[in-house]
Amino acid sequence: CCQAGRHVPIVDEGSRTRMDRMTATPVFRFAPSPNGRLHLGHALSALLNRDFATTLGGRFLLRIEDIDLERCTPAFEQGIYDDLHWLGIDWERPVRRQSEHFDAYRAALQRLVEAELVYPAFATRGEARAFVAEREAQGVKWPRDPDGVPHYPGLDRQLPQSVRAQRIAAGEPFAWRLDMAAAIQAAGGPLDWSEVSGVRLQDAETLPADPAAWGDVVLARRDTPTSYHLSVVIDDALQGVTHVVRGRDLQAATAVHRLLQRLLDLPAPVYHHHRLILGPDGRKLSKSQGDTALAALREAGNTPADIRRVIGLA
Ligand code: GLU
Repeated sequence: CCQAGRHVPIVDEGSRTRMDRMTATPVFRFAPSPNGRLHLGHALSALLNRDFATTLGGRFLLRIEDIDLERCTPAFEQGIYDDLHWLGIDWERPVRRQSEHFDAYRAALQRLVEAELVYPAFATRGEARAFVAEREAQGVKWPRDPDGVPHYPGLDRQLPQSVRAQRIAAGEPFAWRLDMAAAIQAAGGPLDWSEVSGVRLQDAETLPADPAAWGDVVLARRDTPTSYHLSVVIDDALQGVTHVVRGRDLQAATAVHRLLQRLLDLPAPVYHHHRLILGPDGRKLSKSQGDTALAALREAGNTPADIRRVIGLA
């Protein structure tokens, strides 16, 4: 009923992708962002994907998620290729680089704009934070997303069209945010996904998706026509990805991805969210912790076999 633009094909599947779906060839992908060096957690993700693809006779793709043109660099991208080669991993060419596909994301965003499921949000992060802090000081319990960030107040959710157009034309910065309540209604029913576990990706469990927990997420910005959430669902569909294998830190985001897949008529892959590799302090590894970078471990004399052992894959 409410999914405007239903018939505009935003995903022009290649014949290879269509064939894979018909023959049920599993398609895996490792999708790092070149905004830092790869660490042990990335090694686990990449090796699991590659190993699953090999075991199941599937394909393994590498995707460079470089939509953040300020933080992503060619040197970090080269680092990804070097680190993966060192680990003994190879992938299909050409590699999909998201920065070369902004048109595809723009088209998807446009469908959501036409369906009135996104709105231009003009409040800066600081303004939104101040608004929430004021409410909390008054004793209001403000909802937070799974990452602990307060939900966007949505003050501009109801702005008249003319005011929006005026402020955009005046060059005011803004972000396109999903109107989460409207989007959930348009989805027309509960969302879930199939989470598989184990070495052979068996034991599927149906998990409920709760996108409302995220509030009005950002789907694009004035100068970047996409976001992580939008480009990941478009690309997984476009590349015919059947199995999304990634860290548990991204499990909560799957709810947003399932919602977008429903709204944009995209197929749902099955998911496997793997254990995380923790640092000595018991916290998730980050790209700023240089000592777990694969390049540093390599320079310190470790072999790929050492890496597999350290991450529990030996
Ligand atoms: N680009 C994301 C990251 O580096 C991963 C995306 C995904 O696997 O869905 O954390």
